[in-house]
Amino acid sequence: MAVDATQPYDDQNVFAKILRGEIPCRRVHEDEWTLAFHDINPQAPNHVLVIPKGAYVSWDDFSAKASDAEIAGFVRAVGQVARAAGLVAPGYRLLANTGPNSHQEVPHLHVHILAGRPLGPMLAAMP
Ligand code: 5GP
Repeated sequence: MAVDATQPYDDQNVFAKILRGEIPCRRVHEDEWTLAFHDINPQAPNHVLVIPKGAYVSWDDFSAKASDAEIAGFVRAVGQVARAAGLVAPGYRLLANTGPNSHQEVPHLHVHILAGRPLGPMLAAMP
């Protein structure tokens, strides 16, 4: 179900459970501010999700309320994960769905890193 990104944070969402260790993940990076792990249903040969450890519903929530240190830590971690995976030269795509029209499904901010093949146009053709 698509997320209403204006709702309060729900600490029962699946990524909150991953952060608490209640659900396993295939971790690729962890630091003070950030966790990164493989998407359970990859849409490209490389498909990693990067999430802040803080309780933020969406990019909107995070950009409005997170501290400068959290934002810097998160942005640097996204770059570091892609760099460490060797994705800079071939290229990669970042995606952060926010709210119903974007089809955000998990109400904890996550940036998708997609790579490993030519990804085609930015958006699927309109029906
Ligand atoms: P959204 O549509 O919210 O931008 O993307 C949510 C992503 O989370 C989807 O790509 C989906 O495959 C992934 N996902 C949902 N549940 C789990 C889970 O339990 N573990 C992992 N690793 N990924 C998940």
